[in-house]
Amino acid sequence: MRIPYTGPLPPPIIVPRYANTPAGARHALTRFLSATKESQGFPPSSPGHDSSKTVLLTGAGISVASGLADYRGTGGTYTLNRTYRPIYYNEFITNHEARKRYWARSFLGWTNLHRARPNAGHIAVKELGNIGLISSVITQNVDSFHSAAHPELPTIELHGYLRALVCIHCHNQLPRSDFQKSLSALNPQWAAFLEEMLTSGALDSENPAERRAKGLKSNPDGDVDVPDAPYTTFRYPACPTCLAHPPTLADGTKAQVEVDSDGAWSSNSNAGVLKPAVVMFGESIASNIKNAAEEAINNAGRILVIGSSLATYSAWRLVKQAKERNMPIGILNLGGVRGEESFYAGISSSNDGEIGVRCNESADKILPMVVDSLRGAHTQHAEGMHQSLSV
Ligand SMILES: [Zn+2]
Repeated sequence: MRIPYTGPLPPPIIVPRYANTPAGARHALTRFLSATKESQGFPPSSPGHDSSKTVLLTGAGISVASGLADYRGTGGTYTLNRTYRPIYYNEFITNHEARKRYWARSFLGWTNLHRARPNAGHIAVKELGNIGLISSVITQNVDSFHSAAHPELPTIELHGYLRALVCIHCHNQLPRSDFQKSLSALNPQWAAFLEEMLTSGALDSENPAERRAKGLKSNPDGDVDVPDAPYTTFRYPACPTCLAHPPTLADGTKAQVEVDSDGAWSSNSNAGVLKPAVVMFGESIASNIKNAAEEAINNAGRILVIGSSLATYSAWRLVKQAKERNMPIGILNLGGVRGEESFYAGISSSNDGEIGVRCNESADKILPMVVDSLRGAHTQHAEGMHQSLSV
């Protein structure tokens, strides 16, 4: 079950102690990623297992440099907009009003998300993969930046993705970009307002004060009010497949799917509801995805968490699994991480990063430096080999 954890987090621990500067963090992370099973003797090999490689677990922090908000971090949605409350799965599937509100917000936010691109952090992950140090990537992010930046690296999208919609009745998927055009056609006043807000730059910030200054007014619930078009009037389309061929419901009866004259889903319907292909709060992660993530942990020798406070249980549990397997744990995250003291308890003071690293830096700055260090080390290694061969 995906649930938000909004309690206070401990201050970050720094491991090794010198990793409290960008240069120190670079050194320790380089040691961490290049340490091999020969030097450590960590988990024994088994089929499909490569203990010389690292599995990455990434969260919102790696996408901040792409212009997307980190929900918790400095300037994140929770800290800036205290009235912000994510929608819960049960609310979405049962409540037409809640869906209007969700799609109205989503309609305004989509353009920025759609324009956003992977950043230096994602590109560095690609490079680490090219060097041969990464077994797979597990991400909590729904922005699809990992699959865009490094399609060749196995990537598990733990919480699904926003690039598509899935029908909760017939399970068909549709691209989100087409859906945006339908929302635009069904809500012309909102479409005009969106144009205006994109021009003013009001949607470039998650900060309610900055948004207000640029003309975006929101009510006390944090929802936007479009003049003469409150979000209660927002319309969204029905699933085209269910509309053409109403599915059979669990009780054996034929579902009823009705739309208004423009094609908007009608509340007389009992099917044809589209949902973003993300795991919403209060929704369970599909068992095949959960199993794939667990397998990815078991098939690696170490884990590096990037840009996540492990606030969702599903992510925290994967690191706990790694800890139980005695895998070295690395965390690169700005701010505290849920339960981090237990991950580093009893770590040797002679550790130079090989058996654990924790640094409080941003991924888009540090990871490219780590890639440079590793490339240098690999080049030296290759030259050394060459010299010994030519002697
Ligand atoms: Zn459908």
